[in-house]
Amino acid sequence: MSRILVSNDDGIAAEGLAALARALEAVGEVWVVAPEREQSAASHSLTLHKPLRVYEAGPRRFAVSGTPTDCVNMAVHELMPGPPEVVVSGINRGANLGDDVTYSGTVSAAMEGTLLGIPSVAVSQLFWEPADFTAAADFAAALVGGLLEGARGGRRLPEDTLLNVNVPDLPADRIAGVRWTVQGKRRFTKEQVIEKVDPRGRKYYWVGGSELEWVGNPDSDHTAVTAGCISVTPVHLDLTNHKALETLAGWNMEWHGRRYSR
Ligand code: MN
Repeated sequence: MSRILVSNDDGIAAEGLAALARALEAVGEVWVVAPEREQSAASHSLTLHKPLRVYEAGPRRFAVSGTPTDCVNMAVHELMPGPPEVVVSGINRGANLGDDVTYSGTVSAAMEGTLLGIPSVAVSQLFWEPADFTAAADFAAALVGGLLEGARGGRRLPEDTLLNVNVPDLPADRIAGVRWTVQGKRRFTKEQVIEKVDPRGRKYYWVGGSELEWVGNPDSDHTAVTAGCISVTPVHLDLTNHKALETLAGWNMEWHGRRYSR
């Protein structure tokens, strides 16, 4: 039976994690290794300057006093009897679309899995109150089942590539479809940082409180979820802008007589 590692950034007690783990039980042997506390927007950070503690929360269930990246490392190198066949992160409470993937702890757990050479998937659901993760969990189980079956036939995810899944806040029968998408782009506005004054008369700031505007790319993750579709974006960990290399070489820059070359 395939071993599946489940992690997240909302913490071990999150409902989205429980829903995901439950749905994946039908697909393989589920191991849960998740942060003991919420680590949303932890990005790809690693704990280097303090010890990590592990708490056993049940059979094949562990809480770690660190980040999502720490959890995947601890699971693969320490807690599991061998590397999992797939890493699944989520289900995050809230979307991870466009540029937000660079802040996301949910996506970073999948990044760490990918760096370790394990096929990895991040699953997020748009905000929904009260949260119902049924459709997202069902989709995740079907997708992961498909990946595992594909791998048995030699069909693997492209190298250095994770799948970033975003599910609209709709019941399954109202989800319009599933789209392969590109990472969307936000327009940053000044209201991103809100200035207020505390009871002692000192200024403080609140980041990311305003409504987001999106660049209207028809192929984007944001466009897909807005149309009621599940978005699946292949995210590549090679951050090099390969097209830019040619342009930059044409700038003929130099340092102490040495031309920048390729
Ligand atoms: Mn989160």
